[in-house]
Amino acid sequence: MATPVIELKSVGKSFRSADGSSRSVLEGVDFTLNEGEIVALLGQSGSGKSTMLRIMAGLIAADRGQVLYRGLPLYGPAHAISMVFQSFALFPWLTVQKNVELGLEAKGMPPADRARRAEAAIELIGLSGFEGALPRELSGGMRQRVGIARALVLEPEVLLMDEAFSALDVLTGERLRDEILELWQTKQLPTKAILVVSHNIEEAVMMADRVLIFASDPGRVRDELPVTLGRPREVESQEVRALIDNVYGLMTAGALRPGRITEKEVKLQLGDRLPEADIARMEGILELLADEPFLGRADLPKLAEETELTDQELLNVSRALTLLGFAHLDHGDIIITPLGEEYVHANTPERQLIFGRQLIENVPLVAYIHHGLKQDPSGDLHEDLFLRLLRFTLNETEAISALRVAIEWGRYGDLFEYNFNTGIIQIPRDKEAVVE
Ligand code: ADP
Ligand code: MG
Repeated sequence: MATPVIELKSVGKSFRSADGSSRSVLEGVDFTLNEGEIVALLGQSGSGKSTMLRIMAGLIAADRGQVLYRGLPLYGPAHAISMVFQSFALFPWLTVQKNVELGLEAKGMPPADRARRAEAAIELIGLSGFEGALPRELSGGMRQRVGIARALVLEPEVLLMDEAFSALDVLTGERLRDEILELWQTKQLPTKAILVVSHNIEEAVMMADRVLIFASDPGRVRDELPVTLGRPREVESQEVRALIDNVYGLMTAGALRPGRITEKEVKLQLGDRLPEADIARMEGILELLADEPFLGRADLPKLAEETELTDQELLNVSRALTLLGFAHLDHGDIIITPLGEEYVHANTPERQLIFGRQLIENVPLVAYIHHGLKQDPSGDLHEDLFLRLLRFTLNETEAISALRVAIEWGRYGDLFEYNFNTGIIQIPRDKEAVVE
């Protein structure tokens, strides 16, 4: 029988938007972290993963539902739970040793004990000899090790890692990941359970006993995939590759296939986030897809390898191509549509025409801007108008991002022009002269 360490039951959390309205970030989150397991959490950025971690650590309170630690309600920051963040706010004027000791000092531990415990944590994480160094004298990977040592020195029962490797270069990140797994496997960690938030599917599959897939708007656990492979795992092995494939399948399925999800997620609405995908990249993928060796159908992990895009980038491009009707997704494969084929073989003006048409049909925000411009006697409108509208459902960063994508796409589809200096969006000049 599994022993639960942390349990979330129907947890919900809302935040206030800039305009004062309330926005639900997490809804109905059910999750149990058990003793002895590593769980990975994957999901789009902005889906609420960090918020969920902060709730689990007791750093913020849930608005709805229950959070239990060892069967009892969690009321505030729990000493037994430590978080590791993407980038560490190490104190620049303190040595590695002192940075690691900080948490113990806060607990009131005597200096000699602190020093001994910190030294042990520093050694465990491979930083022996650097106790006296200052953060600025260390590489990014070493700084992240200090951050991890700082969490481990508290001997937490639960370690919550929020994209802890993603600011590091690939090799450094992989090395650190493998070392932590080695420590876990050989039971050198004081920790009983680990939750890692990642945006890297391979990392999730390499580390976890279970991979959870998070849905957005509102964030909730949508799918779960058990990983029963032993450790250490071979990244190039068939089993690992098959699992990565599987996760890709689940992630794209939830995002795009009707049936499992609400209508809202399939059919975009005005105030929805748009996938951050630039057009050159979308066209590049489409061309690659149409050509050999794929001939219209590609396995997403293979395509990621071929193009060296990150999972998030490739998923964004796939989502964009799907939205616009140039491709569809099926069990982790991307498949070009007849329209996509037509597009690949078209010249630039023809492509723009098709692109514009697909935008109007499929991207409500672009259609709305286009419509607005045509209605307005001057034929131009300020971007703030649309930003204000988007702020009703998106936060500031997301609103700006959605508008930026809409403008970039709309310009390419020859639906409008945009003046970067003034923020004015207008009907393209050559079209203005045509009196209807
Ligand atoms: P993720 O970690 O999956 O990228 P986050 O949990 O950081 O997602 O954020 C989820 C959403 O909640 C985002 O739209 C974010 O802007 C919003 N959010 C997070 N923290 C706050 C806060 N303190 N106040 C208002 N909005 C927040
Ligand atoms: Mg986050």
